[in-house]
This record gives sequence, C-alpha cells and structure tokens, in this order.
Amino acid sequence: MRNVFLVMATFLCSILSVFAWGPTGHRAVGEVAQQNLTEKAKEKIDEILDGDSLALISTYGDDIKSDREYWKFSPWHYVNIPFGKTYDEHPKNDNGDIVYGINTAVEVLKNPNSSKEDKVFYLKMLVHFIGDLHQPLHVGIEDDKGGNDFQVRWFNKGTNLHRVWDSEMLNSFGMSYTELAANTKRLSEEEKEAIVNGDHMDWLYDSRELMEDIYENTDIGEKLGYEYMYRYMDTLRSQIQKGGLRLATLLNEIFE
Ligand SMILES: [Zn+2]
Repeated sequence: MRNVFLVMATFLCSILSVFAWGPTGHRAVGEVAQQNLTEKAKEKIDEILDGDSLALISTYGDDIKSDREYWKFSPWHYVNIPFGKTYDEHPKNDNGDIVYGINTAVEVLKNPNSSKEDKVFYLKMLVHFIGDLHQPLHVGIEDDKGGNDFQVRWFNKGTNLHRVWDSEMLNSFGMSYTELAANTKRLSEEEKEAIVNGDHMDWLYDSRELMEDIYENTDIGEKLGYEYMYRYMDTLRSQIQKGGLRLATLLNEIFE
C-alpha cells in the first residue's frame, strides 16, 4: 500500500512540475525588473513584499503548485494555441490561462480596495507569470503539452523540449541568476523602448514567434547540445532581459 502511495505521489509531482520555468530563469527576470523599477514603484512593492526582492518571490507561483489548495492556478502559467491561429481565434481554457492570470493579477493590484493579503499573493503571481510568458514553450501547442511530450536528448540525457528551455540550457550555461542579470546585453534607449512597447498580448506573440522558430529548428528525438546552445543561448538570455524590462514597465505603471 505504501508503495502505491509513493508511486502516486511521484506521479503527481511529475505532473505538477511539467509547466515551470526553472528558478534561475524566474529569478533573473525578477532581478532585471528590480533594477528597472522607479523609486515610487520600488517603495510600494517593498511595502507589499515586506522587503523581499522580486527575485526571491519570483518562484512562488511554482512553489505552491504541490499544494492542493492552489491547483486551480496551474493553468494560469501557460497558454496553448494551435499553429496558424491567434489567441482570440482559439477557444479559451475554461480554467484560465496565462493571459487570464496576468489580467487578474493586474486588476487586483490596481484596485485600491484589494486586501493586503491579495496584493501580496497576486504581486508574486504576476512576477512569476511575466517570467513564464517569456519562456517560449509556455506559449506552445496542446498536442505535445507545450513541448513536454516533445522528447529530445540533452547532452545525451533523455529529456523534453520544454525542459530544455525551462532549465537544461540555463543549467549547462552555468550562470547564477545574479550573473545573468548583471550580464544582460547593453541596449540603447530606443532599443529598450521598442522592447517594452505594447502590452502583454504583444509580448505573448513575440514569444510565440520564437516558439515557432524553435519548432522549425528542432526535431523529435534530436540530440541537442553545444550546437543548440550556440544557436539559442543569446536568445534565451535576451528573453530574460525582455521579461525583466517588461515586468518593470508593467509594475511601474501599476504602482505609479
Ligand atoms: Zn510557472
């Protein structure tokens, strides 16, 4: 009997960990955002989070996944859209998706009547969701569960495409989240402006474009390694930077 429980627990954990950008990616996005907050936003966020940094709370959305009480938020980490369709053309998930998650969090944070407890919760969730939005496989297709059923090999170890973009590439690259945040690309004001332009729907399609590029350049069962890193590591680093800059812009607007 005990073994049955153990097997079930392991199975559940593996399901629950399916949709998650690894901690390093989330923390780096949080750290880049932290560095780009206005003084006013920084103060208000500091008060809500009781001094915790955006990097620290960025993984909260995944940390609570194993708690049954929070299962209803699991679909809010991603959206699946068939190739050739737009977000609006495809029927929505009744349980919500990443767009719904971001909209809900922004609404709660902008509402002056929201409780402190709700503000804490939804700020943590918003920081997490904007991170997820920049992991291209979180804007994937239903057929392979956002790349989770897309089996590949990473330096000769069996894994899947989602995991490669979640954590394998970042782990192989070997930088900590602070190193990643400290080594972002130097951008002109115009370049920054272009990145933060628009809203989270524009950012979703930006990630989607990358996701489509990834599908064109990756085969099921493919052995991935150094060559893949050469091709995509700068792009992944750029996704982290974009995520951080955009998160800061959104937070600066909410807490203006
Ligand atoms: Zn997530």
